[in-house]
Amino acid sequence: MTNAKISVRLKHLSRAARVLFLSCLLPLVCAPDALSSAADSPSGLKIVALGVRGGIVDGDLTAFLIHPSGDLRSLMCDAGTLGNGLLVAAKRGNLGGRTPDQTLGSDIKAFLITHAHLDHVAGMLVAATDYPGNAVYALPSTNEVLGEDYLNWAAWPNFSDRGKAPRLGSLHLRDMTPGVATPVAGTAMTATAWPLEHGGVESTAFLVQAGNSAVACLGDHGPDGASGEGRGHQLWRALAPLVRSGQLRTIITEASYADPRTESQLFGHMTPKYLIASLRDLAEEVGRPNALLGVTVIVSHVKYPVGGEAAYRKLILRQLREGNDLGVKFVVPEQGDKWDVP
Ligand SMILES: [Zn+2]
Repeated sequence: MTNAKISVRLKHLSRAARVLFLSCLLPLVCAPDALSSAADSPSGLKIVALGVRGGIVDGDLTAFLIHPSGDLRSLMCDAGTLGNGLLVAAKRGNLGGRTPDQTLGSDIKAFLITHAHLDHVAGMLVAATDYPGNAVYALPSTNEVLGEDYLNWAAWPNFSDRGKAPRLGSLHLRDMTPGVATPVAGTAMTATAWPLEHGGVESTAFLVQAGNSAVACLGDHGPDGASGEGRGHQLWRALAPLVRSGQLRTIITEASYADPRTESQLFGHMTPKYLIASLRDLAEEVGRPNALLGVTVIVSHVKYPVGGEAAYRKLILRQLREGNDLGVKFVVPEQGDKWDVP
């Protein structure tokens, strides 16, 4: 078909159909991600790291964009950084051919918030002024802090649908029940929450599922301690069957500091040594040799010293590799990185 004939025929199509037609006709702009529909049965998930650091450098704070393959309707697991992460991911070509504005304005349908610390919610709150209309899923304790301490007309306008009037109502706060899978509004994914212990603050681990694919996204947390029956262990007990069946092969978690560090210096965080001990606990729960062989563990929230990032990253990676007797694939991500989860 000649270009002239194409343009004549396109005039008779709706705008949406024209976009679909052109994106399939022209290989260079054909983006499979754009061909989403509610009828798609998703196989696989995509993760884009919009922010990977713990604290200090405010343009790169914990934020992971997750959506089913071929379906851009996305959720964020935390949103410490949002706008800057989208700009970096787009620049690296890792935003599925979408612009940051399109991703913020129409693709991101919901936020899963692990806890209300500023470095996990700042991106969501500042974007709420211009990009309203998203559901916020969290345990009740987290939504309570969001409402009382930020969305109170003193710290920030009340964009939520509860708390101090007038309620602008564009962020829909939805309380989750631990262990109960909840459909994530506007997406083809479900999320299940389990509480974690984070230095006296309740944090959360989310299991995100679409079809037979799953990702666990853990918020900040510390080790279980001597008892071994803490919230970390309870989480692994809940997730072990999915690891055993091969459905869960990707875990986003944290190691904020390098070793050595005593428990009193952890402030509710992990180091490579504590993370590996925790993963060993998961392997025991799964209960078979090489239980975690090949499982991808994305290690986020590293508290890099400003200006000393490269050396600290090298140190964390070395410590993770030295202690890795489980055969897991450790990744210390950089902002804008993207992964495909089968
Ligand atoms: Zn925190």
